[in-house]
Amino acid sequence: MLKVVIAGGGTAGWLAACGLSSRLGSLLDIRLVESDTIGTVGVGEATIPPMRNFHRIMNIDEQEFMRETQATFKLGIEFDNWGEVGDSYIHSFGEIGQRSWMAEFHEFWMEAQTQGFGGSLEDYCLELQAAKAGKFATQIDDTRLNFAFHLDATRYAKYLRKKSEAAGVRRIEGLIKEVQKDQQSGEIKALLLDSGELIEGDLFIDCTGFRSLLLGESLGVEFDDWSHWLFSDRAIAVQTEATEEPVPYTRATAHASGWQWRIPLQTRVGNGIVYSSRFMSDEQAKQTLLSNISGDMITEPRQLKYRTGSRQKSWHKNCIALGLASGFIEPLESTSIHLVMTAIIRLIRLFPFGDLTEALADRFNQETRTEIETVRDFVILHYKQTHRTDSDFWNAYRTMEIPDTLAHRLEIFEKNAYVWPDDVALFRVDSWVQVMMGQGLNPRSYHGAGKLNNKASLQQSLAKMKSLIDEKVQKLPTHQQFINHYCPAPQGD
Ligand SMILES: Cc1cc2nc3c(=O)[nH]c(=O)nc-3n(C[C@H](O)[C@H](O)[C@H](O)COP(=O)(O)OP(=O)(O)OC[C@H]3O[C@@H](n4cnc5c(N)ncnc54)[C@H](O)[C@@H]3O)c2cc1C
Repeated sequence: MLKVVIAGGGTAGWLAACGLSSRLGSLLDIRLVESDTIGTVGVGEATIPPMRNFHRIMNIDEQEFMRETQATFKLGIEFDNWGEVGDSYIHSFGEIGQRSWMAEFHEFWMEAQTQGFGGSLEDYCLELQAAKAGKFATQIDDTRLNFAFHLDATRYAKYLRKKSEAAGVRRIEGLIKEVQKDQQSGEIKALLLDSGELIEGDLFIDCTGFRSLLLGESLGVEFDDWSHWLFSDRAIAVQTEATEEPVPYTRATAHASGWQWRIPLQTRVGNGIVYSSRFMSDEQAKQTLLSNISGDMITEPRQLKYRTGSRQKSWHKNCIALGLASGFIEPLESTSIHLVMTAIIRLIRLFPFGDLTEALADRFNQETRTEIETVRDFVILHYKQTHRTDSDFWNAYRTMEIPDTLAHRLEIFEKNAYVWPDDVALFRVDSWVQVMMGQGLNPRSYHGAGKLNNKASLQQSLAKMKSLIDEKVQKLPTHQQFINHYCPAPQGD
C-alpha cells in the first residue's frame, strides 16, 4: 500500500487527510504528523461557495459541519471605504440580473441608466439584497441561493480530524526535527521526530504552514515574493463576544493603512487587521483594531507575520505542498482554504499510482499557478482601483504597476465594459463587475445590446427582475431564524 505522510495538522493538513481518506482511503496508508507545541494559524474563518462542492465530494453533511464549527452563512463581503472614504458596496456571491449570450447584464443596466431608469445595479441580485436585509435561506421558491460559510477554524480542524481518524488516518503528535532525503534521487524518505521516531513514506504532503519545512526548506523550492503588489505582511487577530445577531456577510473595512475583517459566527465574532509594516507600526495597528471592535474580547490580540507570494512549484519530487506551505495571498477575498481544496481535488485526480512522473507534477503545478495568479490579480484589483489619496499607503497602491493580466482586464472594462470569466472560473463575471464598479471604475462605453429593444421593454424587464427579487427577499426568514432551525450549535459548546 502506498504510504502517504502528511506533515502538519492545520486546516490544510486535516483537509488533505479528510480528502484523501474519504476518496482513496482503501488504497493508501495515511499518517499525519503535527506538533502541539507549534500550533496552527487558526484564523481562516471566511470561505467562498465552492467549499460546498468539496464538502459534497467528501460526504460532509452540511448541517452537521455547521453545528460543529458554529458556522454561519455568508452571502458575500461588504467593502467599506475602499474606493473612497465613506463608500460601501457588497461583493455578493449571487448572479446580477439576467445576461444574454451577447452581453452581460451590467451592460443592459448601463443602457437603462443612460435612458434615465434602472435604479442601482445592486437591486438585481437576490443574494446581495438578502445580505443587506440580514435574511437567509438555502432556497426560496425555486431559487437556490449561492452561499459560503463563516466557521470556527479550530473547531473545523477538529471536525476534519474526527472524520479522518474514523476513515483510518493515523495521527502522530511530535515535532519534525529532520527531513531525510535519498542521496541519489533527492526524494524525501522519512521525517525524523524529536522523539526519535522515524516516519517513512512514499509521498509527502507538506502542510507545515508558512515555514514550508519540506518543500521550501528541505527541497529548496524557491518562493516568488509578490509583496511589491500586495504590501501587507502582518495581521493581528482577536475574537470578541457577539453583541448582535450575525449578519450573513463578512465585513472588510479599509483604514488609512490596511484593512479590518469582521466575521460573525454563531456565538462569537472573529476580528483582525491586515497591514503592512512599511506603512503602519504594530502598535498603531493594534490600536486601530481595538478601537473598531464591539463586544468584550475573548482572546488576547495575536499577531501573525507572513509573506505574500507563491512557491515556484507546489509539487516537487515526491512532495506536494498545500495551504500556507505552498503560498499565500492575503485574506481579503477568503480564498486560501479554497485553494487548499482545489489542490486536494487536483491531487486526487492526478494521484501518482504509477511512476512518479514529472509530467504529472508539471500539470499539477501549471494548474495551481494559474489559479493562484487569478486570485492574486483579483485581490490586487481592490487596492489598485481606489481614488483614495489620504495616506502614503493608498497613494502607493493607486500608482503602482500591476500585473499585465490585470492591467489588460481593467483597460478593456474601462473602455468597453467587457468582462470575461477568469481562466479557472473562480470569480464570476459578476464578481469582477461588482468590485470594479463598486470601487468607482465606470466604463466609458458598453455593448449596444440594450438598444436593440425599445425603452419600454427594457424598462419592463428590469422592473420585473427587481420585483421578483424583492418578493423573494420579503419571504426569506432572518439569518438567525434560519440558523436556529437548520444548524444551531449545541448550547454551552
Ligand atoms: C491573517 C490571516 C487571515 C486568514 N483568513 C482567511 C480566511 O478568512 N479564509 C481563508 O480561506 N483563509 C484564510 N487564511 C488562510 C488560512 O488560515 C490557511 O490557509 C489555513 O488555515 C491553512 O493553514 P495551514 O494548515 O497551511 O497552516 P497552519 O495552520 O500554520 O498549520 C501548520 C501545521 O504544521 C505543523 N508544523 C509546523 N512545523 C512543524 C514541525 N516542525 N513539526 C511538526 N509539525 C509542524 C503545525 O503544528 C500545524 O499543525 C488566513 C491567513 C492569515 C494569516
